[in-house]
Amino acid sequence: MLSGPFLSKDWMGATGSFEEAETVMVGLPYDGTCSFKPGTRFAPQEIRTASIGIETYSPIFGGDMEELSFYDAGDLDFPFGNRDEVLSMIEKAATEVYDAGKKWLGVGGEHLVTLPAVKSCFEKYPDLAIIHFDAHADLRMEYLDEELSHSTVMRRISEFVTPENIIQFGIRSGTKEEFRWMNAHNSLCRYEKDFPQWIKRFENKPVYLTIDLDVLDPSIFPGTGTPEPGGLTYNELINKLVMLKELNIVGADVVELSPHYDPSGVSTITAAKVIREVLFLINP
Ligand code: MN
Ligand code: MN
Repeated sequence: MLSGPFLSKDWMGATGSFEEAETVMVGLPYDGTCSFKPGTRFAPQEIRTASIGIETYSPIFGGDMEELSFYDAGDLDFPFGNRDEVLSMIEKAATEVYDAGKKWLGVGGEHLVTLPAVKSCFEKYPDLAIIHFDAHADLRMEYLDEELSHSTVMRRISEFVTPENIIQFGIRSGTKEEFRWMNAHNSLCRYEKDFPQWIKRFENKPVYLTIDLDVLDPSIFPGTGTPEPGGLTYNELINKLVMLKELNIVGADVVELSPHYDPSGVSTITAAKVIREVLFLINP
């Protein structure tokens, strides 16, 4: 059974228990395959601390965190350097959440943590669709001879969810092969104006939402290991999330904050605020 946070500082507004909650938030402090600059392992605890500085009320969604039914289960305690064990621990925890009829909210950590969570979500919902926000395609077949890495995560997911059940947005970096893949499978929504139409495809499906925060522009979100110029503003991202309100979101994660690359702390606050809005999205 998942137990409570290691630190006494709970995420703002988190109340109740695992048993009572509709959504269970789990910190996933893993950055073992980071290709450039590591540090995302520090994100979950930094986000909890930063959450104290933002309001529990969301003017965008018109709700208060204190009325939400969610539980912060704390961070998983990973064995350092053992990737396969880390992935199986995440899959086990997510399966526990789904078996209990609840929704998963993962807080990374690097993007590879999405793979085991989506696997267990897919076990429960075989017609699962994915909405992926990211600067990077994450569609490499392998990276530095590794098939499991944060730059291959969407490719691995596509192997069981299938490409037609994936919509990607914000992608502005990848190899020629990755862009060919996105063209061949029509997974990349390129233009903002098309987004509302694209997501209609998933109207009658359970949806898993994965947000790699480097989709935001590095000028407003420098706290990440692989910053990529040309990204979204905060409002551009949140407006997309509001559009997802009509969908049945059954799981989500927010990944790739690397808090120490932004000494101002604004990136961490931004991550906390994105998570707040995601909580309203998945608890309609
Ligand atoms: Mn990513
Ligand atoms: Mn990325």
